[in-house]
Amino acid sequence: LRQKVEQARGRPVETLDGTPINLQLNVGLNLERDWLDELDITGVGLYRTEIPFMMHERLPTEDEQVEIYAQVLEQFKAGTVVMRTLDVGGDKPLPYLPMQEENPFLGWRGIRMTLDHPDIFLVQIRAMLRASIGRDNLHILLPMITNADEVDEATRMIKQAYYEVAEEHAEITLPVPQVGVMLEVPAMIYQMHAIADKIDFFSVGTNDLTQYLLAVDRNNQRVAGLFDAFHPAVLYALKQIIERAKTLGKPVSVCGELAGEPGGAILLIAMGYRTLSMNSYTVDRIRWIIRHSRTSDLEAMLERALAARTAQEVRKIVTLTLEQAG
Ligand code: PEP
Ligand code: MG
Repeated sequence: LRQKVEQARGRPVETLDGTPINLQLNVGLNLERDWLDELDITGVGLYRTEIPFMMHERLPTEDEQVEIYAQVLEQFKAGTVVMRTLDVGGDKPLPYLPMQEENPFLGWRGIRMTLDHPDIFLVQIRAMLRASIGRDNLHILLPMITNADEVDEATRMIKQAYYEVAEEHAEITLPVPQVGVMLEVPAMIYQMHAIADKIDFFSVGTNDLTQYLLAVDRNNQRVAGLFDAFHPAVLYALKQIIERAKTLGKPVSVCGELAGEPGGAILLIAMGYRTLSMNSYTVDRIRWIIRHSRTSDLEAMLERALAARTAQEVRKIVTLTLEQAG
C-alpha cells in the first residue's frame, strides 16, 4: 500500500468523472512531518485546541499557546489550518476547571464556556493571531454555536484581539484570519442565513449534529445502537446544510467522523460537499474510494438513500455502491 500511495502522491484527488475533492486532516497533536507529505491533503480542517489544554496541569499561558499554534501553522504551511477555539465541557473536561453538571452535553461547553470567560477566549485568540504572524494560513472556528448573538459576541472579541495584536506589531501587517462556525447544534441549520454575513465559512460537526438531532448521547453504550449518522433524518439535515450554504455563497466542509467513513464520505460527496476533514489513518482509504467512484453513480445512490426508511436500509444501499467501486 505504501508503494501505491507514493505513486499516487502529488496527483489531485478526484473522482473518476473529475470531481475534485479536498481532503483535510483532523488533528489534536503535532504529527510527524515526513509522514504528512504522503497524504495529499490540502490542509488541516480541524485542529482541536482542547488537546494541548488537556495535556497541561493549568491553563497554558498566552506565550505557551503561541508556541504550540505556531508549530502547527508552520508544519502545515502549504495549506490552511482551521483552529477551533477551546471546546471543553461535555465529554471533554479540563481537570483544572471542574464542572459539575447533570447534563454536560446540554450544558456549559464550547463557545458557551469561553464567552463567559473572555480572559480565556481573548488570550487564545491573541495567541492564534500572534502565531500567524509571517504566515497566512490561520482560520478560526467557533464550536457549539447555538444562536446569532454568540457569533456577534465572538466575532467582536476576535476583532478586539486583532486590533490589540496588530497595534503591538505595528511594523507588520497582521494577516486577517478567516472565521467560521461549526454547524453541530441542529438549530443552526435554520439560522445559517442569520450569521452568514458575519463569517467566512461553515464546518459541519457530524458527531454532535447526530447526537443532538437524534437526542442520543454519543458516548453512552446503552444507546450506542441509536447513534447513527446514517439515520435518514441526519442525511436530510446534511443535504439541507449544503443547499443553504450554496444559496448563501459560503464554503462548507465536514469535519465530523462521518467524513472519514467510506459510506459517509460518498454520501457527502453525492450531496455536493467538496471538502472533507478526517483522522490521518482514514485518509488513504477515502482517497482510494474517491478515485474509484463516479460522482454520477454516487448521486444516483443518494437518491435511493434518501428514499430509505431506516439507517439499516441506507447502509445497505451505500455498501452496495462501495462494493461496486471495488
Ligand atoms: C463534531 O462534533 O462532529 C466535531 C468534529 O467535534 P468534536 O468531535 O470535537 O465534538
Ligand atoms: Mg463537536
